[in-house]
Amino acid sequence: MKIERFAPSPTGLLHLGHAYSALLAYNSAIRSGGKFFIRIEDIDQIRCKKLFIEQILDDLKWLGINHEKPILKQSSRFKFYKKTLQSLWDNNYLFGCDCTRKDINIASAPNEKTLYGPDGIIYPNTCLNKIRSKKMPSTALRLNLNSLDKNNFSFFDKKYGKISFTKEEAIENIGSVILARKDIGISYHLSVVLDDAFQGITNVTRGEDLLEATKIHVILQYILNLPTPVYHHHKLIRDEFGKRLAKRDDARSIKNYRESGYSREKIIKMLN
Ligand code: GLU
Repeated sequence: MKIERFAPSPTGLLHLGHAYSALLAYNSAIRSGGKFFIRIEDIDQIRCKKLFIEQILDDLKWLGINHEKPILKQSSRFKFYKKTLQSLWDNNYLFGCDCTRKDINIASAPNEKTLYGPDGIIYPNTCLNKIRSKKMPSTALRLNLNSLDKNNFSFFDKKYGKISFTKEEAIENIGSVILARKDIGISYHLSVVLDDAFQGITNVTRGEDLLEATKIHVILQYILNLPTPVYHHHKLIRDEFGKRLAKRDDARSIKNYRESGYSREKIIKMLN
């Protein structure tokens, strides 16, 4: 059975791009007799707001989306995340990093061309070979890809087909991404992988801006012995200038369209 999800971060209002993603995932699940979950990705307790959660849920209901209950909130999962980080630390998959953004910029500057990965500048591995403490440090924690005991990875995407990559390519193009931010104790990459598995998600539908990040997720699924779902990285909805919609763009929020008298049918038509 297909199990899909929509996983918004309540740091702003839902816009047309979110509606497109949620409806695609919902229709894919329901048309095949499957299940659809909503997960609230609220690990960043400063930027996430209760008001946005309420509005997002109301907008999804208005769009005709029914979901399984209960709704999982990532903020209820910190203990579990910490336990997983501890086991990754014990198995040498993590290293502590106290570099600031400025440190990283300076360390990357001498390179002829700075390389960018899914999370911005590829980390120059300044802290990779520092002496390891036995105890897991309270700094940020980064993934040490050198510890991988497998060379070839792949996943299937509904739009792009089979995507394969090697450990070396991951080291070069992704680098040592953060799995635990110092301020919140976890990162998007690890929480999304753990929770997709926890909720038994078989199919992940999301924007193609996350295609490169999925390689990190597939690596984490291997390390943690979790299944890899089938992915569908769909097109991004753009404004009339070709720019992808941003959370700050309240004019294109579903709330604003609703208040201006748009019907659900009209919104769906706009997305086609
Ligand atoms: N919370 C993430 C976002 O809003 C979810 C991405 C995903 O579907 O994995 O971008």
